[in-house]
Amino acid sequence: MALGNAAAAAAAAIAVAAGSSGGPWTGAEASAMADASAAQKPKIAKQLIPYPQRRKSDMAAYSKRHYGHYRWRLTDPQLIVIHFAVAASIGSIRSTFAHNRPDPEYGEKPNVCSHYAVGAKGGAVQFVKPGIRCRHVVGLNHVSIGVEHVGFSDGEVLGRTPQLRGSLRLIQWLRCTYDLGIKRVIGHAESLSSSLYKELDPDFRGRTHGDFRKRSMRVYRRELHELGPC
Ligand SMILES: [Zn+2]
Repeated sequence: MALGNAAAAAAAAIAVAAGSSGGPWTGAEASAMADASAAQKPKIAKQLIPYPQRRKSDMAAYSKRHYGHYRWRLTDPQLIVIHFAVAASIGSIRSTFAHNRPDPEYGEKPNVCSHYAVGAKGGAVQFVKPGIRCRHVVGLNHVSIGVEHVGFSDGEVLGRTPQLRGSLRLIQWLRCTYDLGIKRVIGHAESLSSSLYKELDPDFRGRTHGDFRKRSMRVYRRELHELGPC
């Protein structure tokens, strides 16, 4: 795909999302959402991937190499990191995560995964319990919950109202559940600017991905803000 077109499309969709006054909700819906304590748990379909002891040990060994401690549990998450999966369906995301093979990018175990994913129509699914670490963002896996999105660009997700609504509801509930401020909801592409970033492996240090850049996250966090306090 020609990057130019994608960037233009992305910029257009972001402009639409940014330009329109009420975001993915009409005024009445937005205030109803805010009133009804937007921290309500949305419907989340459980599609847990296998995470046997072997994968937990691989995650603990990974944590030792990258964060200096042998641990697979995710206790007290400090961040929610959102991604787009470069995938067209929940099923294809899940099958990428399900098998514990070395990840294609770094050739390391355990395989990558995210805790949740949001489909094109806004449906939320859970792949891994948030008490277990997932590899989804270099430098922050020890402190963050990962949420994937079906799609191929920031603009595609931001421009798809049902998906954006579903995503905002899930993230609002998650952040309120873990008592995280809106600033603690970041895009993958913002990982390097997080004060919580930690990477002991020089081959990994400074590496990140381009999904959900700062400009897209300004739009996203503003929509979260519209949902009101926890
Ligand atoms: Zn990502």
